[in-house]
Amino acid sequence: MAFESLASRLQSTFDKLRGKGKVTEEDVTKAMREVRLALLEADVNFKVVKEFVNRVKERAIGQDVLKSLTPGQQVIKVVNDELTELMGGGQSKLAAATRPPTIVMMVGLQGAGKTTTTGKLANYLRGKQNRKPLLVACDIYRPAAIKQLEVVGKQLNIPVFSMGDKVSPVEIAKAAIAHAKEEHLDYVLLDTAGRLHIDETLMGELQEIKEIAKPNEILLVVDAMTGQDAVNVAESFNNQLELTGVVLTKLDGDTKGGAALSVKSVTGTPIKFVGMGEKMDALEPFHPDRMASRILGMGDVLTLIEKAQIDVDEEKAKELERKMRTAEFTFEDFLEQMAQVRKMGPLDELLNMMPGMNKVKGMKDLKVDEGALNRVEAIVRSMTTKEKQQPEIINSSRRKRIAKGSGTSVQEVNRLIKQFEDMRKMMKQFTKMTDKAKKKGGGF
Ligand code: GDP
Repeated sequence: MAFESLASRLQSTFDKLRGKGKVTEEDVTKAMREVRLALLEADVNFKVVKEFVNRVKERAIGQDVLKSLTPGQQVIKVVNDELTELMGGGQSKLAAATRPPTIVMMVGLQGAGKTTTTGKLANYLRGKQNRKPLLVACDIYRPAAIKQLEVVGKQLNIPVFSMGDKVSPVEIAKAAIAHAKEEHLDYVLLDTAGRLHIDETLMGELQEIKEIAKPNEILLVVDAMTGQDAVNVAESFNNQLELTGVVLTKLDGDTKGGAALSVKSVTGTPIKFVGMGEKMDALEPFHPDRMASRILGMGDVLTLIEKAQIDVDEEKAKELERKMRTAEFTFEDFLEQMAQVRKMGPLDELLNMMPGMNKVKGMKDLKVDEGALNRVEAIVRSMTTKEKQQPEIINSSRRKRIAKGSGTSVQEVNRLIKQFEDMRKMMKQFTKMTDKAKKKGGGF
């Protein structure tokens, strides 16, 4: 996971402070020395580190922080605030033109993930914001670029505008915008050419497109894995084009995180989105405060809740809750619940967003055994409808059949059924207890 080493170093530094009833200036200085090293090692720009550490120190020592009842916590709060500020403070949202279409120009070096991100952004705009985007193939130099965008568009069922590789990108952009107006599409995403390195020809062409297309957004796509290079690239593009935002890709990899922490401060351009994987739905709006919490091991409950809200069907969730309470819960519901949770993403990613989870012993290295989950699912799927609804009828010959059908063992089937029965028993007890408490008029 990104930021892993930075997060664990910062957390161990602050663990030492957290419990202390009294924190001295010296303690803060010592902690800040560790913070400084941790940030440098995470490949954060050295000037950014210096300013950051000074600011935190000043605030921590200067105010009433050290005199407060929970000085350790207060210092951590200062660090959390400053980390948030460093990454831009509040969320920077994507612009929307007052008169559609909104023109978004996507720029970046080859391999950064520009074409993929253009597709993801279109998918995001359509899915989360109900917009009608148009993808435009303006990279006429890389032989496979047009085809790649067309494949992405087809996969997402989002229209792609292309004129082959014989027409200039400026003409393509112009025609695409006219087309979008005619078709009442409200976002035009221009996938421009990339190069291996920044060169004058590329910048000249991008400036020409900018002049003609008058984009509301110029988003630079950079690869988080390249650390300080990403920041340098952002600085050059910004000098030439005046970027409105950065999309940091590959944050799902084990990047040290330096780019995420330096880009805003070095270039003045906010990060608007982050890429969290290769799939088309792996794009998240960037929230500096949530990222800071994640880095400090305080979890990211808000993103977790949002994921749940987006992906989970509310009616179904309510019905499941009712069944749990009345212990009517069957194996069919169990399957349904598993499917709902799985829609939210890989389980270890979800666990990482929970506050304190990384503190639980062994949790950091925990890889959720998706294989075991698959086996559980296979077992339930091998049951007949009646068995799913009335698990008590599953006798030993049925268990053998289920094990065979699911490619598992009878022991595994036994274990699952036992766990399921225990769970139902617990729910019954729980319901009884709450009922009693209610009758007594007491709260629970
Ligand atoms: P372009 O040359 O900038 O257009 O780059 P592409 O869009 O072709 O992407 C280059 C590679 O990076 C592809 O293999 C993508 O699947 C991959 N990629 C893009 N974004 C992400 C991301 O957020 N996470 C991961 N893991 N891979 C990504």
